[in-house]
Amino acid sequence: MLESSNLLRIPGPTPIPGCVTRAMSKPMIGHRTEEAKQLLIRLKEKIKPVFGTNQDVIILAGSGSAGLEAAIVNITDVGDEVLVLVSGNFGERFAEICEVYGLKVHRIEVEWGKAIDPQEVEVYIQKNPNIKAVFVTSCETSTGVLNPIPEITAAVREHSNALVAVDGVSSVGGVDTQMDAWGVDVLVTGSQKAMMLPPGLCFVAASERAWEVIHENKRPRYFLDLRKYLNNAAPYTPAVSLLMGLEAALDLIAEEGLENVYARHLTMMEMTRAAVKALGIPLLTDEESAAPTVTTLVPADFEGDKLRKQLKADFGLELAGGQKHLKGKVVRIGHMGYCAPADVLQVISLLETGLQRIGKDITPGQGIQAAQAVFLQSGGQA
Ligand SMILES: *Cc1c(COP(=O)(O)O)cnc(C)c1O
Repeated sequence: MLESSNLLRIPGPTPIPGCVTRAMSKPMIGHRTEEAKQLLIRLKEKIKPVFGTNQDVIILAGSGSAGLEAAIVNITDVGDEVLVLVSGNFGERFAEICEVYGLKVHRIEVEWGKAIDPQEVEVYIQKNPNIKAVFVTSCETSTGVLNPIPEITAAVREHSNALVAVDGVSSVGGVDTQMDAWGVDVLVTGSQKAMMLPPGLCFVAASERAWEVIHENKRPRYFLDLRKYLNNAAPYTPAVSLLMGLEAALDLIAEEGLENVYARHLTMMEMTRAAVKALGIPLLTDEESAAPTVTTLVPADFEGDKLRKQLKADFGLELAGGQKHLKGKVVRIGHMGYCAPADVLQVISLLETGLQRIGKDITPGQGIQAAQAVFLQSGGQA
């Protein structure tokens, strides 16, 4: 098979635009040079709109989990009570890290595939006034749910001073995000999902009141100590090549316009969902809680992993399976970052072919027709 026919449609890592690859292959520069300093100054302003914040967005070398860990170690100290909202694998990870760091962890859990109910959070936070921070996943990548972050944040803020920390790893850059307007205190994302970069960077922004807590916090921390990055964006050697790529990716986003980026993701979500439904395959999430970046199908009468293997073998198309107890039970299609409606039509067409290859009885073309209809109705938002 041609090397280029590796079609990466998992919910991260995601494909990299050519201009980003080219930017990353520029000659190395010293990280203490004027050139590097200027790059960091430009990035500082260019990244803010993607977070919907006027605060500094701190860039760390590390995967998304390093960002989650940074959020936790900077705003909590041993023995603090925290509430973690768990709607899937990444909510569990948040809770796990909190436990490792000696926090008293309260949990609200929902069935995987469902969204967190802000009212439940509101009731819980009123009953537990000692909770100092709430941790919640924006897009729960393991299920394809988009949790209602504005409503959850409002519910917490109305009754408590607890900080709200959000894992936006598979949403920031693909889903409308207004950190300041929503009152989010800490927002984390990673490079390899909707940001169109390879894995290796994570980003953390904090609100004014979160910074107060961070400055006062006595918990020992070193590399992940956000205070060190506040007046010096690169206290340690930054991932220089990835930063060069980041500028190219942010320029691409600015060129398209953030609103168009978000609309494109919604169109891709709707196309994918319509196609899957037309093929008679159930979806894990309902309309209201579906994430614009990843869609999860439930193969009720065929083997999802067999389909994935077939698609990989025939076309080099990579889809994701399930995590934890959903392993073998779902198929996840990533449509975020460097992905357009044209790619969705390709994925659906290959999906139909793959389903026939493994012997599932479908009407070929039904999925494609449904996806095309959504695209046409969207007014051609490509
Ligand atoms: C991918 C992802 C992460 C981070 O995972 P890493 O492998 O550490 O980069 C965290 N949260 C969510 C919601 C994710 O999708």
